[in-house]
Amino acid sequence: MTLIVDTKDILSDLIGFDTTSHRSNLALIDYIEKYLAKHGVHAHVLHAAEQAKANLIATIGPNVPGGVVLSGHTDVVPVDGQDWHTPPFKMTDKDGNFYGRGTADMKGFIAVVLAYVPVFTKAKLTRPIHLAFSFDEEVGCLGVQEMLPFLKENVPLPRLVVIGEPTSMQVATAHKGQYVMKTKVIGQEAHSSRPDDGVNAVVVAAELISMIDEMAQNSKKNGPFDDAFSPSYTTFNIGPISGGSAFNIISNYCEFDWEFRFLPTVDGPAIAKKYQQYLDDEVVPRIRMKFPHCNVTNEMWAYLPPLKSEPGADGESFALALAQRNDSTVIAFGTEGGHFQNLEFPVVVCGPGDIAHAHKPNEFVPVTQLEACGRFMQRLSEAMAT
Ligand SMILES: [Zn+2]
Repeated sequence: MTLIVDTKDILSDLIGFDTTSHRSNLALIDYIEKYLAKHGVHAHVLHAAEQAKANLIATIGPNVPGGVVLSGHTDVVPVDGQDWHTPPFKMTDKDGNFYGRGTADMKGFIAVVLAYVPVFTKAKLTRPIHLAFSFDEEVGCLGVQEMLPFLKENVPLPRLVVIGEPTSMQVATAHKGQYVMKTKVIGQEAHSSRPDDGVNAVVVAAELISMIDEMAQNSKKNGPFDDAFSPSYTTFNIGPISGGSAFNIISNYCEFDWEFRFLPTVDGPAIAKKYQQYLDDEVVPRIRMKFPHCNVTNEMWAYLPPLKSEPGADGESFALALAQRNDSTVIAFGTEGGHFQNLEFPVVVCGPGDIAHAHKPNEFVPVTQLEACGRFMQRLSEAMAT
């Protein structure tokens, strides 16, 4: 199959752009825009509101309902501090695998899609194939959220959205949702020998952390449970914490990050609300009574809506046919899928490579996976032309 040669060349080009989330992706977007133009496909480049980044959307075929959206994110996670045996931003072809940052997550998928653009343009499509490439997925799905109004306005209800995150080409129909929060506690500094003269921000943070941990224990013990997921319940984690300045000073400041990942059937916003309620009703009044400037704030800096499966839905069976699979699965990691689902678009996650190799040194995608993804694209092209 010669298309795998094109895929390899394109993937090699894509890996060469260091699109770590904190950097610009404009050079890569420009590359894709020019590539599409070469094949007669016009791309909409939607520049980010506040950064040197852009989303790209293109439609091949008539812009009518019933199309398929192929969705990928263009950013990658950092390589800092990782032990790479090959240069991460130069693709290496070795033992049937392509190595490099983003090969699995998820430039491999984008490369296959681009390699099939000439197939799509020649296929006399009766329904459209849309390409939707975003920025800043890895730092909270920020790019796709800027893309949503454009999609809503310009993409008539598709039959299916394929999020090409690495699932080893299995069809996944659900994942958990996620909230990422930062809690900041402002206390009152004092000499440690005079506890009544201060409010210890570290102690307040500890109280909140144990409250979060209680929610975690409760969720593990009492559910709700969904055995499709592992673990089968909503999970919580406390991330970095910092605060205090010396053992003999009552700390005036402490902050910590935390997150929870909730089952699609669980009301995630209600959990965030319960925590906020506890701050507003219990903690803040208590510390303010001592010193009016004391405070606790909790800000959400990322929210990933869950992907909910729709058993027996047309989108799922269509995806299974394209992937030539009998059964769908669920995944443990989050994607942009929930955002598309909130537009009432049917969504599956299906892409080449294994998530187990993503975000790690020596990330790779097997060539056989890219070939399987190519066959998916071939069948898609045929399905949209009939
Ligand atoms: Zn990804």
